Amino acid sequence: MTKHTIVTEFQNEFETCPACGYSGGFHSIFRQGTGPDISWLLRCPSCHETYDIGLRTRMQSGSENQ
Ligand SMILES: [Zn+2]
Repeated sequence: MTKHTIVTEFQNEFETCPACGYSGGFHSIFRQGTGPDISWLLRCPSCHETYDIGLRTRMQSGSENQ
């Protein structure tokens, strides 16, 4: 399982996979970074390329205790 991620710039929409042309939408992948931000990555269900379009999210306050 590769963790190769393609960083791409978001421009208006990200609906079609640049690698294979699949346009049915993406799977969501969440990956904790070094800080509190969680990278929200998108994986093509057709060719399984993973894209980082710059989305970041955080867990709700109070859910950080593990
Ligand atoms: Zn694809």
